[in-house]
Amino acid sequence: MSEDKSKIDQLTDEDMAVEKEEITHTPDKKEDDSEFEKICFMCRRPESKAGKMIGLPGNIHICTDCMQKSFDTMNNSNINYNDLLGNLPPNVSMIDLTSLQNQIPPKQRVKKKKEEKNQKEKKEFSLKNIPAPHKLKEMLDEFVIGQEKAKKVMSVAVYNHYKRVFSSMEDGIEIEKSNMLMIGPTGSGKTYLVQTLAKLLDVPLALTDATSLTEAGYIGDDIESVVSKLLAAADNDVERAEHGIIFIDEIDKIAKKKNTNQRDVSGEAVQQGMLKLLEGSDIEVPVGANSKNAMVPLTTVNTRNILFICGGAFPDLDEIIKERLNKKSSMGFQADLKDKYDNDPNLMSKVTMEDLRTFGMIPEFLGRLPILFTLEALTEDMMVQILKEPRNAILKQYKKLLAMDEVKLTFSDGALHAIAKLAMEKQTGARALRAIIEEFMLDIMYEIPKDYNIGEVIITQEYIEHTGGPQILLRGQEVPRLGAQ
Ligand code: ADP
Repeated sequence: MSEDKSKIDQLTDEDMAVEKEEITHTPDKKEDDSEFEKICFMCRRPESKAGKMIGLPGNIHICTDCMQKSFDTMNNSNINYNDLLGNLPPNVSMIDLTSLQNQIPPKQRVKKKKEEKNQKEKKEFSLKNIPAPHKLKEMLDEFVIGQEKAKKVMSVAVYNHYKRVFSSMEDGIEIEKSNMLMIGPTGSGKTYLVQTLAKLLDVPLALTDATSLTEAGYIGDDIESVVSKLLAAADNDVERAEHGIIFIDEIDKIAKKKNTNQRDVSGEAVQQGMLKLLEGSDIEVPVGANSKNAMVPLTTVNTRNILFICGGAFPDLDEIIKERLNKKSSMGFQADLKDKYDNDPNLMSKVTMEDLRTFGMIPEFLGRLPILFTLEALTEDMMVQILKEPRNAILKQYKKLLAMDEVKLTFSDGALHAIAKLAMEKQTGARALRAIIEEFMLDIMYEIPKDYNIGEVIITQEYIEHTGGPQILLRGQEVPRLGAQ
């Protein structure tokens, strides 16, 4: 006991402040309480769902339903509550409800929907914020190399999606939702495209992996948890979340399994479970947590205007496409062209909804992802471009780092191609580039700042291929080199 006390004595005032913060989860003082919804102390529903709240001392709120239930319980039982209060055993005390109420962590508080009179503020996000497709594509070009078709299709689909969001339905014409399905090898930029798009549009984005999703009731995140993630990405602002983007990766992993008689937990059922979400419905989501439980407040998010983008590598889909095309061409006189598609680099772009059905995606699911497009596998030249051209290219980052030491960093063309070759061997797309370059740059970043006389470092092909070292030039010795980056 005395040991504990001395430990407490050692804590500084600052430590104590932190400890207190953790215990009570006092919301950020800067946040205006009136911006957040009141949460029912008993059922944890926010005011927008549960209706008017009755305020009790200590900042506790109880919805009328729960209040009524409490009264009913009291009236139906024979317990005399006053007696109970007076006869508590010596080691039992009544809970101080005030301290419990303060336990709602700031990340679980829901921002109030803006009221009608705040319409002006609400209009902040409008079609004017969305660049026209050609502008959007130009912006994407600055970050994403190649994938021309994908960038074009996405720009148009996104533009149409937000037109739909802001269109009125008075004329009875409803624009169809532009949810997308993108197919492309791993590391070809699927996630990167979506991330860049969301950043350019300034809308919240939730990324999730289809393999982690299960039907409600099974171990894993239930399907609706993606909406919860989006809400968190929108700082618990329901309105912002309702026009955000949800990206579900590895969608091919929830294909229907062929030839099984067992109940298919991870595949078809998850696809079925996602239908409602993709189309648009009211989803009750926990705020600030992945699963619903008694202590987490709930709110409702409508997914009608949320843009869903699904991505996957769909391995072996090429075989399905080939088979279909071969079947077609083997009719009539062209049976001799059986291996015509074997080395077709554009085979994947010939994919149809029918092929995806054969792969194991259910028709209802595909029907809700009307925009289908493919990404090309990255070539060595594209890898080199990715190294040096995007606005935030890896080379630019390293150059900037060394420039801060007043050292010029140059890569010979040969070195860039050697790095790209190594990355191609790994078969993980552009993802491999950073790891490879980091390995080679480690020594450089370590050694160069040691010697102030060094003015330029040239990374050579020999250095990458382990047959030589980088070229080091002293200050005043630097010479412009042709063909070097
Ligand atoms: P995946 O297709 O598996 O989702 P990612 O989008 O995660 O691949 O790509 C991994 C990384 O590779 C990205 O963070 C990005 O830096 C880079 N990258 C991939 N493709 C491209 C591309 N076409 N242009 C520029 N960078 C790319």
